[in-house]
Amino acid sequence: MSELLQLTPNGLYCPVGDFYIDPWRPVDKALVTHAHADHAAFGSRSYLTAASGVELLRLRVGAEAKIEGTAFGEDLSIGEARVSFHPAGHILGSSQVRVEHQGEVWVVSGDYKVEHDPCAEPFEAVSCHTFVTECTFGLPVYKWPQSKVVAADIQRWIAENQRAGRASVLLGYSLGKAQRLLSLLSDLEEPVVVHGAVARFLPAYRRAGVELPSTISANEMHARLSLPPVVVAPPSVQRTPWLRRFQPFELALASGWMMVRGTRRRRAVDRGFVLSDHVDWDALCNVIHATGAERVLATHGYTGALVRFLREAGLEADELKTPYGDDLEAEIERAEMAQQAEN
Ligand SMILES: [Zn+2]
Ligand SMILES: [Zn+2]
Repeated sequence: MSELLQLTPNGLYCPVGDFYIDPWRPVDKALVTHAHADHAAFGSRSYLTAASGVELLRLRVGAEAKIEGTAFGEDLSIGEARVSFHPAGHILGSSQVRVEHQGEVWVVSGDYKVEHDPCAEPFEAVSCHTFVTECTFGLPVYKWPQSKVVAADIQRWIAENQRAGRASVLLGYSLGKAQRLLSLLSDLEEPVVVHGAVARFLPAYRRAGVELPSTISANEMHARLSLPPVVVAPPSVQRTPWLRRFQPFELALASGWMMVRGTRRRRAVDRGFVLSDHVDWDALCNVIHATGAERVLATHGYTGALVRFLREAGLEADELKTPYGDDLEAEIERAEMAQQAEN
């Protein structure tokens, strides 16, 4: 059967348009939902992504890469396919890709969330026949607290640490989560110390008009701060000399995985904040309903539970096997592998 989008060894392929969406190997024409490493593979001959994500994608795939940007909602013809990008609310410039041919419509979600995040364009549900959805947190136990509640918790934790003379080190994925954490800290009196892996993405966010607190590097800290520092860094800094300079400190990790019992202990952090850039179970089900899709292909996470649930609800549902993974887990794994290689 010839499908509008097909799974191939390079990734999800559209034969009538001769392009791939988020291919995991280099291809001629890659349409990219967002700049996280599992969706934006290096080495393709050309890339197309949402205009507000171009700068981030360039940081991922290299300065020489040929990258074109398209406005959200702009109608494009690629081969015989009609294509448009729509906001996914996951990180700055993240999109869902809509593909249409002879009246048949598919939407590939990429990673997405519906909750308000000043760092990302608000999610839009797009009508389609077939919806390819992520389901990183596709189990009913995942239910996110409101981010303003989490923000208040984080601010209280920082205030406690400052009273006790300790630094507050917040760990989160370097692209997306770290900027979102920063956006929750705009009320702080002093600049936030950021790790280089986080700092490299900040100009793109600032140019896009995202309001962020002033930031400094760890080397500038001693000259500039009178209070114990507030630090935002990727999880890969754990157990490194870079982190030790902030002693005494408390360490916190911000992730959807913080809802899982034992994660805080396994990750050896003092505090966990439940803050995710993916949909929780209720939002996932609401979005699927809103698309009106009669067929759902689930990838990226707990696909089995979602597929069973949707079939029971009378929809056609299947798992789509891709190598996309959770961004935070992937980053922690890469960092641990790099450390093992060094030792
Ligand atoms: Zn992602
Ligand atoms: Zn992903």
